[in-house]
Amino acid sequence: MNQKRLSIALAGNPNSGKTTIFNNMTGTRQKVGNWPGVTVEKKEGTVKKFGYDLKIIDLPGTYSLTPFTIEEIIARDFVLEECPDVVIDIIDASNLERSLYLATQFREIDCKVLFALNMADVARSRGFKIDGKKLSELLNVPVVFTVGNKNQGIDTLLEKAIELAESSYEIPKKRRVKYSKDIENSISNLKSFLENWTEGSIPYNTRWTSIKLLEDDKIVKKRVLNKAGKNSREILQQAQIHRDFLVDRFDDDPEIVMTDERYGFIAGIIREVFTTSTKQRIDISRNIDLILTNRFVGFPIFIFFIWAMFQLTFSLGAYPMEWIDMGVNLLSKSLAQVLPNNLFKDFLLNGVIAGVGSVVIFLPNILILFFCIAIFEDTGYMSRAAFLMDKIMHLIGLHGKSFIPMLMGFGCTVPAIMASRTLESEKDRMLTILITPFMSCSAKLPVYIVLAGAFFGARAGTVIFSLYLVGIILSIITGRLLRSTLLRGADAPFVMELPPYRAPMIKSLLIHMWDRSKIFLKKMGGIILAGSVVVWILSTFPHNILYSLDYNSKIAGVTASYNAEIETAHESDKKLLAKKRDVAIAELLKAKKAEKAENSFMGSIGKVLAPVFAPIGIDWRGSIALLTGFVAKEIVVSTMGILYAADEADDSAALKNALLSSGMTPVGALAMMVFVLLYMPCIATVAAIRRETGSFKWMIFSVVYSTSLAWIVAFCIYQGGTVLGV
Ligand code: GDP
Ligand code: MG
Repeated sequence: MNQKRLSIALAGNPNSGKTTIFNNMTGTRQKVGNWPGVTVEKKEGTVKKFGYDLKIIDLPGTYSLTPFTIEEIIARDFVLEECPDVVIDIIDASNLERSLYLATQFREIDCKVLFALNMADVARSRGFKIDGKKLSELLNVPVVFTVGNKNQGIDTLLEKAIELAESSYEIPKKRRVKYSKDIENSISNLKSFLENWTEGSIPYNTRWTSIKLLEDDKIVKKRVLNKAGKNSREILQQAQIHRDFLVDRFDDDPEIVMTDERYGFIAGIIREVFTTSTKQRIDISRNIDLILTNRFVGFPIFIFFIWAMFQLTFSLGAYPMEWIDMGVNLLSKSLAQVLPNNLFKDFLLNGVIAGVGSVVIFLPNILILFFCIAIFEDTGYMSRAAFLMDKIMHLIGLHGKSFIPMLMGFGCTVPAIMASRTLESEKDRMLTILITPFMSCSAKLPVYIVLAGAFFGARAGTVIFSLYLVGIILSIITGRLLRSTLLRGADAPFVMELPPYRAPMIKSLLIHMWDRSKIFLKKMGGIILAGSVVVWILSTFPHNILYSLDYNSKIAGVTASYNAEIETAHESDKKLLAKKRDVAIAELLKAKKAEKAENSFMGSIGKVLAPVFAPIGIDWRGSIALLTGFVAKEIVVSTMGILYAADEADDSAALKNALLSSGMTPVGALAMMVFVLLYMPCIATVAAIRRETGSFKWMIFSVVYSTSLAWIVAFCIYQGGTVLGV
């Protein structure tokens, strides 16, 4: 059959995927040899497709068409001398700028060229976006996207190549590299000189020949000398005159100037057709950072974010908190009805359910808090916060990097202390470890929520926020103190990385939130349960105590007398009397429980501790709650649940009421919260401090220092507040 033959040359940078595409096109019908005269591999293949006999030639990989390397000479000569019907320039789309140099040179030769934007997959995965249509318009070249190793777009490429070969393609005058005025003048002078004076034939287009002559291209010069007839010497002379003129004008060789200008042209194309989401993100990030890390605006915004975080935690968390509270109540009420009255029931209801129940209701708050922290981390705001804090951190003699562990400390101190491992300087690390516990961890939050909720009502959010602020301020003071005494030295210089902002992915936010909340739940099942049980045992035993009055018979008496009264009363009064009776009984039960608690082991321990805590407005029950907080800070709440809420221990509203009626004042509550904020860290943190500092002494120091500081600050607040009559 007599099919039409077309030759197609594949050109491109090394590793752009030429051979891959060549193999895809030709399958097995390939001839592999060497280019004539040199040992550079020559691959040729034929394929019948779309009714054509296609001869495909894999040219050696080159970055340019300057005749410096053997590969460049082969590729250029082949295109210039053999004149393939089409040249496919295989462009590495993930490396567009570098690839376009060769592409623009093909454009200058004025052969029929087609761009294959190969490695389209790599480009995409790097977030590069190339506007193929625009590139095609700008350079007047058909563009096809391909993925060579997946054989994607190869057929389209061949189709377009055939179409281009068959088209009556006018060599475009525009849409190619334009050089600066002087060079363009020289080019057009030389060009008309060539057109008017040559007698023989120059095989290439005259503009390209002129450019090459200006570039002092040895091969082209030789060719002109051989083929341009008797005027060839004059042509070369003319070229030399222009070269000299340009060298004088630019103070550089024209080939260098023209190379620069080609790159300028490419830069222009890139700007038109190429966008990268990475770059855009960086630009957007930079603009956001102008505000968020601004010296004056950034800090108030940061404070606002933190404030909003706690406000959200507190107000949004209140709803699910209520539901869980109702659930726990329901459970405990129904168990109370079905279980027989014995010690086990007391243990289950007042020990386990009351203890764990009073903490589990804070799960929503903790979830929200961790969710917010995850947002800070995932969006990239966390490192901006560190950057902002850098200046303040320098007050302590630390740099912003130390602020990340401290910020994490708002969640949990244990991972926060471990995060300080990233600090290079030993002293910086020590200092960070010692001040991180003052960052109020999420376990302390339930204590604040109960106390602030009971005593400060609508202002609870602000009070809690202030507590966090106090923690930060005291960590700064502590840092300064230690920096100028025990941990003297300068902070190590560092560079704070500011990664581009990212829109957080809900899934990753949830995962981060859950990873941390899991720890809270585990603690609840483990150490909090154990702590609650211990507290219950200590407050229940010794079991047989001598009451100051026989409550049981008193209750029986009160019941009997009310019942008798109800018998004889008017119908209308009966309800009122029944209510009075129940209140009286509840009062007695409460008094009995209070007396029981006071006479328990717990009571004895509390009494011993009470004098220490009296000056800061905390009674023996509060003292015990604080003591049990060493196990885990959440236990402070569950202990209070057991000790204060004499009537219904599992009910947080009841706990609030009990606290209000226990004689605690708002100032006392504030003193207690501050004490909880500052006093010795929980057992897990103490262990982490021991591990990370590698020193028993620093661990003891941390415990003693923080507890003393807590007492002193709470003392000042309580005494000051009381004196002022707040
Ligand atoms: P040549 O030097 O231009 O002949 O390039 P090759 O054809 O040898 O390809 C270089 C490498 O790039 C090989 O490992 C190919 O498998 C790979 N490759 C070719 N095209 C693509 C593509 O479109 N996407 C990806 N990811 N890899 C490619
Ligand atoms: Mg190859």
